Amino acid sequence: MIDAMDIQITKAKRSKLKDIDFNDLPFGKYFTDHMLEADFEDGDWKAPVIKPYQPLLLEPSLAALHYGQSIFEGIKAYKNKEGEAFIFRPRDNFKRFNVSAERMQMPVIPEEIFLEGMRRLIALDKDWIPAKEDYSLYIRPLMFASDQLIGVKPSESFKFMILLSPTGPYYSAPMKIYVEEKYSRAAPGGVGFAKNAGNYGASMLASAIAKKRGYDQVLWTDSVEHKWLQEVGTMNVFFIIGSKAITPSLEEGTILEGVTRDSAITVLKEMGLSVEERKISIEELMEAHKTGNLKEAFGTGTAATISMIKELRYKDSVIHFNTDGWKTAPELKKILKDIRDGSREDRHGWKFAV
Ligand SMILES: *Cc1c(COP(=O)(O)O)cnc(C)c1O
Repeated sequence: MIDAMDIQITKAKRSKLKDIDFNDLPFGKYFTDHMLEADFEDGDWKAPVIKPYQPLLLEPSLAALHYGQSIFEGIKAYKNKEGEAFIFRPRDNFKRFNVSAERMQMPVIPEEIFLEGMRRLIALDKDWIPAKEDYSLYIRPLMFASDQLIGVKPSESFKFMILLSPTGPYYSAPMKIYVEEKYSRAAPGGVGFAKNAGNYGASMLASAIAKKRGYDQVLWTDSVEHKWLQEVGTMNVFFIIGSKAITPSLEEGTILEGVTRDSAITVLKEMGLSVEERKISIEELMEAHKTGNLKEAFGTGTAATISMIKELRYKDSVIHFNTDGWKTAPELKKILKDIRDGSREDRHGWKFAV
């Protein structure tokens, strides 16, 4: 067992903080002064180290590059109005990371390394957390197979890392969505519920085609009938139909179980809506639109929190929404923001102090 006290810290000689324009922070482009690294070797996790952010020296035979044993997480740290730093629901990401690890035949990571390592790293790079509204410090834990051997088999060594990237508002403009009918993201028995690197590589062609057609993202449908709705790009999806909120259910293992999805379900219920997690088809959605019952559609995810959908295309039918008159998605977004910045009570213990 690793004692969290064992984290060895080597500080950067010079901070890059002043080199970066905090008014212009494209998502995922800049990284803080330090990173965390821990290796799994000979059946055990070695003590993590925190060191200056730097390139890795790896052989081209690195197993992860060839066979895709590679997983990640996405989490955010914020500062509240008093300037105190905290992380939003990192325990849920920790649990999900290990669900992904097990599916990909990778070792689970101890809580001490993931959570305490993250807390220490952020405490060290605290000045990098932007204090501006809608800005945050994006946290990227990852793990990959680090055997240097070409052979299709589970790796015996793995590297776990945490990177930190200051980020501005992401994806916040209402989205135009294309309902995908040719390509699939996930099938039952596959890896759709895991946050493994390959899922994203596999999705890029469909997203690129949707972009060429003038859409921001695809809404994935099931791989057999292309009829049951799954999720939008890297976001879970919700529909307000009548006075109910409906989101696709998780039981087939084809949908990533979003932490923001869970926060949204909790808050929507507190707002008085009835929330249904169930199968929902594109026909049901088009029908609800025809009868005037489809009120809102939005995506949920750590990167953008809540993103409204302003246009949805299915075959030759296009649904245009006037998002200006929406009630639910903007209120949900505001409540989540208020919990983060401290203007609303954190009743569910979602904030993890740095
Ligand atoms: C990360 C991710 C989400 C959103 O999950 P959050 O925990 O809310 O950030 C949804 N779908 C996919 C495919 C994802 O990778």
